[in-house]
Amino acid sequence: MKPFEYRRAATAVEAASAMAEAGTLAIAGGTNLIDLMKLQVEPPDRLVDVTKLDLAQIADTDGGLRIGAMVSNTDLAVHPRIRRDYPVLARAILAGATQQLRNKASVGGNLCQRTRCPYFTNIDQPCNKRAPGSGCGAIAGVSRIHAILGASKHCIATYPGDMAVALAVLDAKIDILRADGTAHSVAARAFHRLPGDQPELDNVLEAGDLITGVRLLRPVGGKQLYRKVRERASYAFALCSVAAIVAMEGGRITRADLAFGSIAHKPWTDDRLSDLLVGEQPSLAVFDRAADILLDDAQGYGENDFKISLVRRSLIATLCDATGISA
Ligand code: SF4
Repeated sequence: MKPFEYRRAATAVEAASAMAEAGTLAIAGGTNLIDLMKLQVEPPDRLVDVTKLDLAQIADTDGGLRIGAMVSNTDLAVHPRIRRDYPVLARAILAGATQQLRNKASVGGNLCQRTRCPYFTNIDQPCNKRAPGSGCGAIAGVSRIHAILGASKHCIATYPGDMAVALAVLDAKIDILRADGTAHSVAARAFHRLPGDQPELDNVLEAGDLITGVRLLRPVGGKQLYRKVRERASYAFALCSVAAIVAMEGGRITRADLAFGSIAHKPWTDDRLSDLLVGEQPSLAVFDRAADILLDDAQGYGENDFKISLVRRSLIATLCDATGISA
């Protein structure tokens, strides 16, 4: 591993200001970053340890919740308010990684995890995300886990996490502190970005930006589900996932919020689905139309062509579960 300087930040402003220096990365649980450092994929000059910052609380705010960036995935998933009011978030977190990893992984770190594209993690392979301008090995290569929506000719990677998919369906907000001490927030749906011609940028964070927490809005009614499809039953990243909040009244759908994981460079949302579904009586025909809309621009790259029909079936199965009709 390349030698690096280590500092422990005493305050969030101190951490943000240190992170403004080129070559500096924040370390929290380290469940992704340490692996990438060992592989020389992300060899920082400096690490700023943010684990002792006062950011590990979960607190009520206006009927919603504010979750500190250093709350562990385990503590978040078992919190009584999360289990009662935001079960889609608890289910998504518990579908990810293993118990040991969830004990170490933080909310802020989870949002910043990198893609699991095998070309990204192999420094002998071309990868525009790791080495801009070197090419994309996956487009004509091994692409089983890669994107079918929103990709570019420069990168077809997916964002691999589960928690962020639930945050997208819950329309959560992400609080960010800047190096100059100012704070702002970004919608979870706008936090991760599409690759475009800058695939090296996973999200909207700039140098010196520190995630301080996540805010959940007042809970909404409806059934909350998280369906994850993967190669094996545990400790595997999703091939695709669906987070859903669906409400019914008088036999018709009154709410249909949906977000999809591991099919794009960011948790994928599409307002056209809600526009179609709300007001409809649930039926396989309606759900099939929703899948048509979701997938109208989907594109496979050979090995991942199967994902297009997998996502269709996953969406329809999730909507059937949520509305109580048979698939
Ligand atoms: Fe790199 Fe993206 Fe291509 Fe993977 S898909 S090799 S991360 S540029």
